[in-house]
Amino acid sequence: MADAVATKPEPPSASQHLPAAVFDELEIVKEPSNLFHQTIEQVLVAAQLVGLRHHQQIILAQPANEVMVHFPVLMDDGHHDLFKGYRVQHNNALGPYKGGLRFHPDIHLDDIKALAVLMTMKCSLVQIPFGGGKGGVKCDPSQLSNGELMRVTRRFASAISSIIGPDYDIPAPDVGTNAQIMAWFADTYANLNPQHERHDTMRIVTGKPVEWGGSLGRLKATGQGLVDVLREMLPELGIDISKMKFSLLGFGNVGGWAGRLLGDLGATMVAVADHTGAVHNDGGIDPQLLAEYVTETGGVRGYREAESISEDDFYGVPVDVFIPAAMEQMITPQKASLINAKVFAEGANAPSTPEGDVILMKRGIEILPAILCNAGGVTVSYFEWVQNKSSLYWTADEVDKRLNTHMVQAARRAKLARTKYDVDMRTASFCAALEQIGKVYDLRGIFP
Ligand code: NAD
Repeated sequence: MADAVATKPEPPSASQHLPAAVFDELEIVKEPSNLFHQTIEQVLVAAQLVGLRHHQQIILAQPANEVMVHFPVLMDDGHHDLFKGYRVQHNNALGPYKGGLRFHPDIHLDDIKALAVLMTMKCSLVQIPFGGGKGGVKCDPSQLSNGELMRVTRRFASAISSIIGPDYDIPAPDVGTNAQIMAWFADTYANLNPQHERHDTMRIVTGKPVEWGGSLGRLKATGQGLVDVLREMLPELGIDISKMKFSLLGFGNVGGWAGRLLGDLGATMVAVADHTGAVHNDGGIDPQLLAEYVTETGGVRGYREAESISEDDFYGVPVDVFIPAAMEQMITPQKASLINAKVFAEGANAPSTPEGDVILMKRGIEILPAILCNAGGVTVSYFEWVQNKSSLYWTADEVDKRLNTHMVQAARRAKLARTKYDVDMRTASFCAALEQIGKVYDLRGIFP
């Protein structure tokens, strides 16, 4: 009979820690255009730089849980449609899983997994006690009536109710979802609980309406956080925020607020593009007036105080800061070669393809990464959750001050990592996030 206490295998050598070796070990067949594979690769490169232990690398290279649900919804014309929903829980070493819910016709499991990984990194970088998650429903909210949207939300909330919890996994809004959808979600979850426990369940989601448990400052939080990061980072790049020109790809929640808040600081918005078209005015576009126009018409197309331009011309407008605030992977190498900016400040998650990234870097454009720039949303989500837990609500000023502290400290941690490891800001931000996760894993150990 073989010896029960077999000799312990040698720990893997450093060379075995290359991302490719981790992919092989986990039997992940790398596809270059797969956002999850791209994201994991970036994380693993940073993990090697910080010397993250091998077992921690393989834990982070896969989500802890991936749940896919199918649920029927009664449509207005009386028939039932079957919808597909996702909830991915990547890692909860630092605290409950946290991440948005996206309602979009073009969502896929691997994209949700990538976004969940980025949430883990983001929460660690801004040092809030949350892990990473993400979810959503494959649907086009613009094609659903209000009643259908509510029933999709309620059935989805019910379908995933057993795998989430106010201290376990806390969703939030993302593309295609908003405060109203969060209110329906929280109300459904509350009603699935015994009467006497319902009151304490509203923090099952953040991004709720201010009238029912939401935090002041949450709506603008991602744009505000981006502006806080720019204020910290631009002086060292020789850019005076009050005199700079910027352009925005995407003028929704993140782009719209970033535009208005930068305008308040004196910066000039010269070009904006969204899914309807692109507009340009070198003398400046008033962000507030454009926001009102977009609310009225649904997009920037046809805005009279600026000239309508082609997509390619939009990318070529000379600016100090270009802010992508639309969808993932929009900046292809062709678009990257057109961008005429000193700084690329990522409001959207993973806005450029890896090849696009290379071109931006080769052209000397400073990339300020999404896990730093757009972490303001989850930070104020954390504040909302804390306020719900304590039933004590903060003023808008208090929220802004606390947010600023988290964002500035995160930017400084990323800058320190940039010097320590001699890398670009994207890698440095992952390094800073991973140092924290590594320390916590070392302290906690692996159960049992
Ligand atoms: P949103 O739906 O409010 O706005 C999206 C914007 O992108 C719209 O202006 C839309 O017209 C534009 N857009 C969509 N497809 C486009 C296309 N093909 N070409 C040009 N423009 C296009 O979404 P949002 O909440 O502002 O989120 C934008 C990005 O920021 C997403 O990547 C999201 O994950 C990320 N993000 C959002 C938050 C948040 O708090 N809202 C937080 C962190 C990260």
